[in-house]
Amino acid sequence: RREPRGLRAGRERVADEFARPAADDPRGVRRVGVIGGGTAGYLTALALQAKRPWLDVTLVESSTVPIIGVGEATVPLMVTFLHHYLGIDPVELYREVRPTWKLGIRFDWGPDPEGFMAPFDWGSNSIGVLGSLAEQGDINAFTLQSLMMTAGRTPVFAPDGDPVSLMKFLSFAYHLDNERFVRFLTNLARSRGVGHLDAKIAEVVPAGPEWIDHLVTTDGRRLEFDFYVDCSGFRSLMLGQALKTPFHSYSDSLFTDRAVTGNIPHNGVIKPYTTATTMDAGWCWNIPTREDDHRGYVYSSAAISDDEAADELARKYPGITPPRLVRFRVGRHESAWRGNMMAIGNSYGFVEPLESSGLLMITQGILALVRSMPASWSDPVGREVVNSVLGKKWDEIRWFLSVHYKFNTRLDTPFWREARSRTDVSGLQPLLEVYAAGAPLRLRDKLTQLHLGLTAPTFYGLEGIDCVLLGQKVPTRLLRSAEPIERWRTRKAAADVLVRQALPQAEALAMFDAEPRLHDEVVKDRDGWVAKSADTL
Ligand code: FAD
Repeated sequence: RREPRGLRAGRERVADEFARPAADDPRGVRRVGVIGGGTAGYLTALALQAKRPWLDVTLVESSTVPIIGVGEATVPLMVTFLHHYLGIDPVELYREVRPTWKLGIRFDWGPDPEGFMAPFDWGSNSIGVLGSLAEQGDINAFTLQSLMMTAGRTPVFAPDGDPVSLMKFLSFAYHLDNERFVRFLTNLARSRGVGHLDAKIAEVVPAGPEWIDHLVTTDGRRLEFDFYVDCSGFRSLMLGQALKTPFHSYSDSLFTDRAVTGNIPHNGVIKPYTTATTMDAGWCWNIPTREDDHRGYVYSSAAISDDEAADELARKYPGITPPRLVRFRVGRHESAWRGNMMAIGNSYGFVEPLESSGLLMITQGILALVRSMPASWSDPVGREVVNSVLGKKWDEIRWFLSVHYKFNTRLDTPFWREARSRTDVSGLQPLLEVYAAGAPLRLRDKLTQLHLGLTAPTFYGLEGIDCVLLGQKVPTRLLRSAEPIERWRTRKAAADVLVRQALPQAEALAMFDAEPRLHDEVVKDRDGWVAKSADTL
């Protein structure tokens, strides 16, 4: 299928932003080798090819080294990145990858049996967090999306059979079936002219401490590029192994290091959110796809064995497919970009997917690379800014996740007792003190918010941290509401009417699939959140 002209033109326009190497410059950056064919590798290759089409981009992957094959829950920026940055046609993505919609994360976490919702419209506070806490003792009725999540509905309506939707105005993310997604990216990269090589790298030959000279494959081929992107996953072939970049572990804050995964039927009920459920030695995700629910129990191998984890998963979710084991390590390397090599994906950093940050951090690395890659090695290069920003972002995620562990009182197993007593939350300690003095933080005065932003920046902003702390009932002095509770009740009742008319996801997606222009409109209409957020990339 030919790509729509609009998308192609959009890519070509943006390409003019970046300098090209002069034809006679011997130090020009023209040939880029992306090593690794997981999501990090393919997204990087596609982005470089889209934004700097004069580059000769080759993706090298080994069919004997499998990709990690997980990583399916995303955040709203991914929708913008896929369609507006990479120029992926929405109709094609829905046809080939069949994503489902995610309105936020539901945490079966903390003291409330119902847990708490972290909806993507948290910034709107559209119904009111203080009213929700006062009236029902939890935060689960503070926005329209949190009500939709509780009811298992999506903001799509069909009063006379014709779909009307608010999807254009309420941010959402995708759940992406990993196998389909990687296959789709692979085909797209080939159709867009990204070179491909199935070869196993046996040796990385550096030229000094900060430079890669060339690579050697197991069948003796020599591969030489002007720029290398290390997307080799946890092996970290260039950044870690060859250049020996120090690794900063996050294991004082995050104790988990493995996951067992499996799929289970959902009988046609596609939940419009990712779920994170507390388990004996960690937690379990649920990511709904069109066909079934994808689950994964993230646990600490110091607390339970792989067999015990698999048993607990099977006991809790009878009928789940046989377990697949995934090992990981949490932390990041000191820097992502050294000399003529930058690492993106697990080769640089990783944390467990409790807040769906993996693909998001891959896009952050890609955006930084595309912006900052020099046209020539004779040009000045802003490596240290990129390294500092990406490093800080990773550390912010570490601290954000740490408070999920420190304050989760749902279970009293040895793992959770240890997590509550030993999790290092020092990076957010100043913020926790301000929170104890008055919350929600997002409703504090501007000066306090500014001070927090300078002292203890949080990955998803004050809205995110409010959800996690208030959702877990971490003690605070609640601010006084500026309105009588009757006003909140009226607003909530109005929202309830809307929620009752909203469709479950399976029905809504079926309507959109039957009329693909609806997918197109949500993603492309200029007044929608997706198109508007394209300016931020
Ligand atoms: P990989 O997928 O491991 O790819 C590595 C590539 O390198 C492969 O193609 C391999 O062939 C190649 N390679 C390696 N060595 C060689 C060699 N010597 N020669 C040639 N090629 C080589 N992210 C989210 O956003 N949401 C989630 O819900 C989520 N869940 C996750 C759950 C778990 C348990 C884990 C571990 C990760 C999760 N992630 C999630 C993160 C996400 O999966 C990864 O960040 C993402 O898939 C990136 O992987 P990668 O491309 O860096 O590495």
